[in-house]
Amino acid sequence: MKQNNKKTICVHAGQKQDEYKGINTPIYTSTSYGYLDTEDRFYPRYFNIPNQRVLIEKLAQLEHAENGLIYSSGMAAISTTLLSLLNSGDHIIFQKGLYGGTVNFVFLDFERFGISYTILPDNEPETMIAAIQENTRIIYVETPSNPILSIVDLKMVSDICKSRNIISVIDNTFASPFNQNPIDFGIDIVLHSATKYISGHSDISAGAVLSSNEMIDRIHETSLNFGGTLNALMCHLLERSLKTLAVRLTQHNENAQVLADWLDANSKIKKVYFPGLKSHPGHEIARNQMMGFGGMLTFDIGGIDSFQFQKNLQLIKPSMSLGGVESTICSPALTSHRHLSDEQRKLDGITDNMLRLSVGIEEVDDLIRDLEQALG
Ligand SMILES: *Cc1c(COP(=O)(O)O)cnc(C)c1O
Repeated sequence: MKQNNKKTICVHAGQKQDEYKGINTPIYTSTSYGYLDTEDRFYPRYFNIPNQRVLIEKLAQLEHAENGLIYSSGMAAISTTLLSLLNSGDHIIFQKGLYGGTVNFVFLDFERFGISYTILPDNEPETMIAAIQENTRIIYVETPSNPILSIVDLKMVSDICKSRNIISVIDNTFASPFNQNPIDFGIDIVLHSATKYISGHSDISAGAVLSSNEMIDRIHETSLNFGGTLNALMCHLLERSLKTLAVRLTQHNENAQVLADWLDANSKIKKVYFPGLKSHPGHEIARNQMMGFGGMLTFDIGGIDSFQFQKNLQLIKPSMSLGGVESTICSPALTSHRHLSDEQRKLDGITDNMLRLSVGIEEVDDLIRDLEQALG
């Protein structure tokens, strides 16, 4: 696995000097800025106010991108990006196994805008190539995927796209910028729900897109009209969150590996989905393209009552969302993927007794003890 040397970037990159020599970037709350004697036109919805720029500078360095935009939610980043780049009559390919909110967006809104799409039945290169049409503009992937942590080969995706003039897009939320940098493998656009690991404390809703200057300019134009901007106070909190991204993720990675091994060895557990397990079908690819396997794992508790199991937990909180310092657990069938039909869930390999664990940074022995007592 590759070395990860992002700690200094997390702490320092992008920081703006305060005129009083304060250590932190000041918070610039203005929504009105002078315009005489300057070419600058600062305004929050133009995505250019100082605290947004500081945050983008840090995120762009972490993702090896030239530029980026910060939004008020992950879905604002995803929908604005896709609708900036797709026109009526265009076609887009989605990998198998997507975040539920993205699937909802596609099912509900794409037809109205005259955008056609293919959701792949599997993520093999031949299947991806066979789905390409003359009007295909984008191939969109999410690896590791939610909730079954399947892995897609990023180099393979970017090779397929580059030779055909297709834009490659990834939702990199589960890996976080600490564990995976898709631009290194030739992926064009990286999306994040910053609500998750980038925030890390379950208290901010935000999203981001990172890419080349040219691509960001295109997305920026539509972003102004859709208006999903983030205010200076939240940008400040996210800058603060990112300072500890490296230490948080190091601990998330470590704890998740220990828990995955423990669950995998437990006879009461039917199946464990975690890319750090040698038995995971995407393990080798994950080793090559990730710097850590992440803090998310999913397991199937077979015949055990999943509702009762969650009620039995004392430390791990049954709750929605993920990526916080605290461990949380949820049933994807009842939360993130509840709007999908039974058939679609089956296609995505999501069972009713599947639980998705967002492993926190607590003492790992305490987490094991909690799982053990809840299993009975
Ligand atoms: C949460 C999530 C999103 C959506 O982000 P919001 O901040 O909730 O809008 C998108 N993709 C993935 C993988 C997510 O986990």
